[in-house]
Amino acid sequence: MTLPIHGLHHVTALAGDPQVNNDFFTGALGLRRVKKTVNFDAPDVYHLYYGDQAGSAGSVMTYFPFPHIAKGRRGTGEVGETAFAVPPGSLGFWTERLAALSPVMASSFGQDRLRFHGPDGDQLALVEADDGRAPWTGVVPGDHALRGFHGATLRLRDGGATGELLRFMGYEVEGTDGALTRYRLPNGNGADILDIEVLPGAEGARPGGGSVHHIAFSVPDRAAQDRVRKAIADTGYQVTPPIDRDYFWAIYFRTPGGVLFEVATDEPGFARDEASAHLGEGLKLPVQHEHLRPALERNLPPIVD
Ligand code: ZN
Repeated sequence: MTLPIHGLHHVTALAGDPQVNNDFFTGALGLRRVKKTVNFDAPDVYHLYYGDQAGSAGSVMTYFPFPHIAKGRRGTGEVGETAFAVPPGSLGFWTERLAALSPVMASSFGQDRLRFHGPDGDQLALVEADDGRAPWTGVVPGDHALRGFHGATLRLRDGGATGELLRFMGYEVEGTDGALTRYRLPNGNGADILDIEVLPGAEGARPGGGSVHHIAFSVPDRAAQDRVRKAIADTGYQVTPPIDRDYFWAIYFRTPGGVLFEVATDEPGFARDEASAHLGEGLKLPVQHEHLRPALERNLPPIVD
């Protein structure tokens, strides 16, 4: 049985200052802010989405910025590094562009990987990839701009059960490099890679600023999501019912290594409540929180573009 999972959908992380977070992702990295809304479960906090022009599945990095959050402690049981794809030959451009962050060139699986930290200590990387995805070119020219996620690393004390889960979800082992095992989804959306890094003696992560909260996988629609939900529940996982996130439907389950997985639909997308030319401009609230708008507009820190 092949599950209808097409790669990553989005990665959601925790940040401090929303303005700093916004400036970094839209300015330094040149992504498009495709939605400014609130955390549906805690509406006094923003939920900011950054991605390509449409906020396509596989391109969207999202943040909950808590202005006074303590920094997270890196460790096992979390997403370690999130990598974006950039065109072949562009890492030199990015080394200069991100020079203030002291990026470090590393290599895994024979690929160069430019590693750097975001403003909250976010562990990020750029990897050159032959990638047909169209970038957002509002800030960074198209021959250098980010194409979307290349993949992410799951940092675990024991990779066995999570590896088994990934294979169940359709990923195939591509190889190993030191502590890393690479899983790739055949025929995916471009955001196809998950590396499991096994660190048996390492301390567990403590979530905080710069930590990834969860990682989401893409399915085309709700029927596909139902199939995935049933298959994963049948193997013994506790999976939430589908939850309406306005721009997609989401189900969540905790994986054996501690990382929270989500499976999210590609529909209806970010143009649901905002014209495509104006994505991310207005403060958008889900209908259940619309009555809070006056207080939220007063109390949320303004974000200046
Ligand atoms: Zn999510």
